[in-house]
Amino acid sequence: MTKTLIIAEHDGHTLNPSTAKCASCATAIGQPFDIVVMGSSLGEIAAQAALIDGTSTVISVDAEALTKPLACNHAAEVVAMADGYSHILGPSTTYGRDLMPRIAALLGVNQVSDISNVEGAYHFKRPIYAGNAIVDVQAPEDVKLVATVRVASWKSASDNGSATLEDRAAAAPASGHTRYVGLEAGGGERPDLQSASRVVSGGRAMASAENFDLIYSLADMIGAGAGASRAAVDAGYCPNDMQVGQTGKIISPDLYIAFGISGAIQHITGIKDAGTIVAVNKDADAPIFEVADIGLVADLFKVIPEMKQLLE
Ligand SMILES: Cc1cc2nc3c(=O)[nH]c(=O)nc-3n(C[C@H](O)[C@H](O)[C@H](O)COP(=O)(O)OP(=O)(O)OC[C@H]3O[C@@H](n4cnc5c(N)ncnc54)[C@H](O)[C@@H]3O)c2cc1C
Repeated sequence: MTKTLIIAEHDGHTLNPSTAKCASCATAIGQPFDIVVMGSSLGEIAAQAALIDGTSTVISVDAEALTKPLACNHAAEVVAMADGYSHILGPSTTYGRDLMPRIAALLGVNQVSDISNVEGAYHFKRPIYAGNAIVDVQAPEDVKLVATVRVASWKSASDNGSATLEDRAAAAPASGHTRYVGLEAGGGERPDLQSASRVVSGGRAMASAENFDLIYSLADMIGAGAGASRAAVDAGYCPNDMQVGQTGKIISPDLYIAFGISGAIQHITGIKDAGTIVAVNKDADAPIFEVADIGLVADLFKVIPEMKQLLE
């Protein structure tokens, strides 16, 4: 049996674009693939998944215990259906990074992390050392392959597919040791950082949480996600789920605008795959200008209000 199972990520209403990126990786692996969607009232999400090009079957598992993205419940369910698959893929998003190691552990295998390129069904490339080196990974072929797909490295599969839809009852019991309390997301209603086509970020130079309103208001004017450097997060100017970089989120927007961010290697790692990088920094020697497509040596506290005025 050489077949791939992709675990769909969604927010209960919309399929996360990371699923279509995993599909591109599965296509490169070269085996038929199914997508599993877990949660409740899944009709619309399953229909979105069925459009992903190359998908054989979209399996919907509708159960109360799967409504919230609790890794303990989702992992147990995936393991219960793992028999028919040689490969199990999930996205390298917060959801996937929480879920996939648990699946790997339950199956007794090592996880392959952050696949950025496929060389063969068990042969991959992935970045290490903050993206400064690319390592070749040869995974064993006699055990199941559990892997995360580095979503910033893959384009979404097209949406002209017509997969079969299948409903399946949950096969794993709900966990008794973990319960869902709530979700606090820093970005508010703004686009999810890891799938936004535009991202506006602020660094330490923002100097306060109040000043971050400049970032949020500009982001809202152009329909962008809001990000931050680790220094800004550590200083308490914004929540840590906004952090972009090696120990934050790896993103690949078409447009990335950085205000008052110096361009440390750990930050650049998170934006390497961005289409156009715009940097505003008052230090002409700031390293971010080495990677920026457009650089402006200026005070962000002047530039942002001017940009907003132009957009109004
Ligand atoms: C293991 C490890 C992991 C890390 N992971 C991450 C990570 O995931 N993400 C991340 O971002 N960092 C990460 N870091 C931290 C990283 O090394 C830097 O310390 C951090 O990115 C610096 O943030 P910054 O650019 O906001 O601050 P600074 O480096 O202090 O830069 C502030 C910049 O603002 C400019 N500036 C000041 N005032 C203004 C103004 N008024 N207008 C315009 N520009 C102005 C300055 O010229 C300066 O370039 C990590 C570090 C380590 C060791």
